[in-house]
Amino acid sequence: MRAPDVIVVGGGVVGASVAFHLAREGLAVALLERDGLAAAASGAAAGMLAPIGEARAPGALLGLGLLALRGFETLCAELRERSGIDPQYVVSGAMRIALSDDEAESLRARALALLADRELGVELEWLDPAAARALEPGLSFAARGAIWSPLEGHVSSPLLTRAYAEAASALGASIETGTPVEGLVCEGNAVEGVRTRAGRRPAGAVVLCAGAWTPGCLGWLPGARADLLPVVPVRGQTVTLEAPPRPRPGVIVSGNRAYLVPKRDGALIVGATEEHVGFDCRVTAAGVRGLLDAAPSLVPELQGASFRCASAGLRPGSPDGLPALGAWPDARGLFVAAGHHRNGVLLSALTGCFVADLVRGKALADEARALALERFAGPRSPG
Ligand SMILES: Cc1cc2nc3c(=O)[nH]c(=O)nc-3n(C[C@H](O)[C@H](O)[C@H](O)COP(=O)(O)OP(=O)(O)OC[C@H]3O[C@@H](n4cnc5c(N)ncnc54)[C@H](O)[C@@H]3O)c2cc1C
Repeated sequence: MRAPDVIVVGGGVVGASVAFHLAREGLAVALLERDGLAAAASGAAAGMLAPIGEARAPGALLGLGLLALRGFETLCAELRERSGIDPQYVVSGAMRIALSDDEAESLRARALALLADRELGVELEWLDPAAARALEPGLSFAARGAIWSPLEGHVSSPLLTRAYAEAASALGASIETGTPVEGLVCEGNAVEGVRTRAGRRPAGAVVLCAGAWTPGCLGWLPGARADLLPVVPVRGQTVTLEAPPRPRPGVIVSGNRAYLVPKRDGALIVGATEEHVGFDCRVTAAGVRGLLDAAPSLVPELQGASFRCASAGLRPGSPDGLPALGAWPDARGLFVAAGHHRNGVLLSALTGCFVADLVRGKALADEARALALERFAGPRSPG
């Protein structure tokens, strides 16, 4: 069997997108995932495509998030066509509500600042409490106003991941689950493949997309500086309720407290905790209790909703909330795409495009400069 041009390590939404974009450029790709597709953060994600709330102020996250959001309709149509899997993209709109007068004041100021920045071209509206309840009749009377952004929405993160992988496979990529990667094959300063239980797997290049486990993979490289990739696990728990149907179900977000994401099948995802507990991926009583209390504080009738399940995942957190993409210094043929934190689903397609460019020897696209791995490089120690 001919060695692939590229081995992608990790079958989350990032690795699957990278595999798809590389295969679409005509490269021979093998994706190796130790577990199943979307087994980690990408299986737990709520799938919101909501850059306006995620980015507190104009900057790289907002700019890239809006760019990504605008591409989702075309992306999902292409993935449906190539893979036969529907990622369940819904333009539901998103409402960010304020639960106190102070919060309403700062949220309104944020809306005005975003609208004033004409280059961003965001579409949003400030709603007073009555207007917010007219749009979301079940909304709590505690809501003191809201930002409404009609173009945000959501996808199913596990289905999007599978759609990328299946589309890559249709283009000739080999998708291998249950295949842990245990090391890198190095020749001098060149990375020439990976090691698995079954032996060496040579490849022209290796892309590490192992989410929160990516810094651990860099430990396979003799002398690698772990501080160049300060990615840490950030646990997120969600609960899924079965909610009575609302007339026009949109995403509802309340500051950092909680969000509600209504899915097409009647499920309502209530998210999410943000916890620094290392690689502990358990669902906890305290996590579930906090989310179950938060949901009816936004929409009171959720007090009577049925409980479906709870889950947890480890976000690959990064210090500035942005992913790190690039060629690993001093290791020819090794690339990294990790640290997507709260926005890996939203930024997955852009990441795939940017990484496909890098692997084909192009420079990182101008709009992706803020994601360059080098931003974490401090001064080198002498010697
Ligand atoms: C509760 C929660 C809610 C979220 N909500 C949203 C949201 O609404 N919108 C959004 O955009 N983002 C959201 N996120 C963030 C998003 O889920 C992540 O940014 C994204 O899933 C990261 O994808 P990834 O592929 O880098 O990592 P992961 O999905 O964690 O995938 C990494 C994969 O690498 C594999 N792996 C690790 N080591 C090896 C090895 N040695 N060999 C082979 N395979 C290996 C793992 O098994 C895993 O499958 C949420 C996250 C959580 C936890």
